[in-house]
Amino acid sequence: MRAFLGLGSNLGDRALYLKEAISALESPTIKILATSRIYETEPWGVMDQPQYWNQVIEIETLFEPLDLLHVCQEIEHRLGRERKVHWGSRTIDIDILIYDNRVSESEELTLPHPYLEERAFVLAPLREIAPTLVLPSGRAIQVVSGEGKVFPLS
Ligand code: ATP
Ligand code: CA
Ligand code: CA
Repeated sequence: MRAFLGLGSNLGDRALYLKEAISALESPTIKILATSRIYETEPWGVMDQPQYWNQVIEIETLFEPLDLLHVCQEIEHRLGRERKVHWGSRTIDIDILIYDNRVSESEELTLPHPYLEERAFVLAPLREIAPTLVLPSGRAIQVVSGEGKVFPLS
């Protein structure tokens, strides 16, 4: 199945964490199909923290959504993610944005990701790698920009 993952880091060597997360994801069960540029973005929710670096990737995977989530969480853990403040600083965050056309409303896994269409830091890199995507709301990604300042690094 095709899925889009959103990655973010705002602690330590942000470029390295993004790179390490992507190489940790790549496996016989997860193929990386596309990788956006890195975007520097302002924090979301809790403003008093360093700028984020965000990236979106498209994958092809044999994992079911929950198994994919657990793989993402295992990688976060390995890369030193600590859960302290909700929406606070982290070495790496890996969210499942969209998994095929799957809808899930459990607390452990909400699909599509609940804030997908509000966040410029997700929409800008997603638009870059999937310019013709129709968002879960039915709107074209080209006409939805979300909130927050984002700057592509290259
Ligand atoms: P946000 O979800 O608003 O981006 P966050 O990424 O900082 O916030 P976390 O602390 O990383 O939040 O995750 C909290 C919980 O969200 C996780 O334990 C996970 O079970 C749950 N969750 C629900 N839906 C998803 C999803 N689509 N992708 C990743 N985690 C999810
Ligand atoms: Ca997140
Ligand atoms: Ca998360």
